Amino acid sequence: MASDRWHSSGSSEDGDEGEPIASLPVGHAQDIDLADDDHFHDECGVFGIWGHSDAAAATALGLHALQHRGQEAAGIVSYDGEHFHSHKALGLVGDNFGSGSVIRTLPGSVAVGHVRYSTTGGTVVRNIQPLFADFEFGGMTLAHNGNLTNALALRKALVRRGAIFHSTTDTETIIHLVATSHYSTVVDRLIDAMRQLDGTYSLVAITRRKLIGMRDPYGVRPLVLGRLAGAYILASETCALDIIGAQFVRDIEPGEIVVIDDQGLRSVRPFARVPRRFCIFEYIYFARPDSTIDGRNVYEIRRRIGAELARENGVDADIVVPVPDSGVPAAIGYAHESGIPFELGIIRNHYVGRTFIEPSQKIRLLGVRLKHNANAARLKDKRVILVDDSIVRGTTSVKIVEMVRNAGASEVHLRISSPPTTHSCFYGIDTPDREELLAATRSIEQMASFIGVDSLAYISINGLYRAVGEIGRDMIRPQFCDACFTGDYPIRLTDQIDAEPAERQLSLLEEVP
Ligand code: SF4
Repeated sequence: MASDRWHSSGSSEDGDEGEPIASLPVGHAQDIDLADDDHFHDECGVFGIWGHSDAAAATALGLHALQHRGQEAAGIVSYDGEHFHSHKALGLVGDNFGSGSVIRTLPGSVAVGHVRYSTTGGTVVRNIQPLFADFEFGGMTLAHNGNLTNALALRKALVRRGAIFHSTTDTETIIHLVATSHYSTVVDRLIDAMRQLDGTYSLVAITRRKLIGMRDPYGVRPLVLGRLAGAYILASETCALDIIGAQFVRDIEPGEIVVIDDQGLRSVRPFARVPRRFCIFEYIYFARPDSTIDGRNVYEIRRRIGAELARENGVDADIVVPVPDSGVPAAIGYAHESGIPFELGIIRNHYVGRTFIEPSQKIRLLGVRLKHNANAARLKDKRVILVDDSIVRGTTSVKIVEMVRNAGASEVHLRISSPPTTHSCFYGIDTPDREELLAATRSIEQMASFIGVDSLAYISINGLYRAVGEIGRDMIRPQFCDACFTGDYPIRLTDQIDAEPAERQLSLLEEVP
């Protein structure tokens, strides 16, 4: 084993076996969950930089721009040519990486960072990424966006062979596969590991000599390449390049590995080509609207989805009102196409993450009112078209509609800028079990009655594909992953199919209070 020294600060590797998030001071991720608990949650954002004198500061800014991809925890690992340095903490990037004193503990011209919303493994310190390990070839640290669908099967096999896992994230499986690979170079070991994995990954790693980026063969999750003066940057979305003034170069291609070192950048494509299946929900909700992914600007796509929605599901009304913030671009598109005026009939409190609420059921029921308030002056006696991006359990929609009616709206018509969400995601998005999804168990009419609207309509799957620039959905070879709307999962769900429910538990350690 090499002897890269491992310096950590903050709450990272200090033997703390997992301070639960509930014991954080007020104003952290628990509040955000309460306010936002009826959406799918993107679970991670990654950022890596090579060759910049302020690598850790640039990474902190990049993670700040990616905060929408995960608010439970954040971590940065830097490398100064001799030592790796780490700082990880539960909570938001700004709260944990906003001070110069923290950034000064992360010296070096190379860094990698991660923001997390957990899909596997609980919200505990030992699960915060980037993960680090000492290998035969030296240290390597790794940040992963995605979800491995055969991680449990692989983990069981590795444990049988003597591997000892320290976290309950699927990402640690990659570490063990790299450690036990018989290949000699780090890139070949990573390729060897990835060949054994099913699932989705956009991954950024640093070793003592390289910055490495990888995107799974289907390209389900995004990853882009940027330049800032002489530095190379890898990030989940282009908004993370914009914040530091970096130039967008290109998307990392599905199945591509980029290796960056002092000689520059080289690209490797070691996997058999499969049809790309980028997550179409990134365009609907997950990605930031100012990002551009695979050549499509997210805001423009959302406007076009709204226009398609208006063409497919028009209704006589006085105003179009978005459910802020995610419904805004689609509502603009809907209003423009229909000629019905756009109004901010609901105002969002952007500081709800700073409330002092306790997670009791009574307060939970107040969640939406803490986050949104009706703009009664605009809603009174109006026939309202409400535009939202999705309905998960329907609990938030019920409260929003009730609030709009209480403000005096004479009719409420709900229009949704995604098809009905009928299936869970296993590819890196946190979703409830299928039976909890409103659209999985009820007809449109039943949902309309449950939510309390005069009418409810969704964009069709073909309308969605048209909005992203396709003629329609290719039923034989769909151009995107749309499994949460169609049940057509492009990547085998090994652990879901093969593991007994009891086996899916990764650890007997208490994780969540
Ligand atoms: S199942 Fe849905 S949310 Fe998950 S990757 Fe596919 S399209 Fe995206």
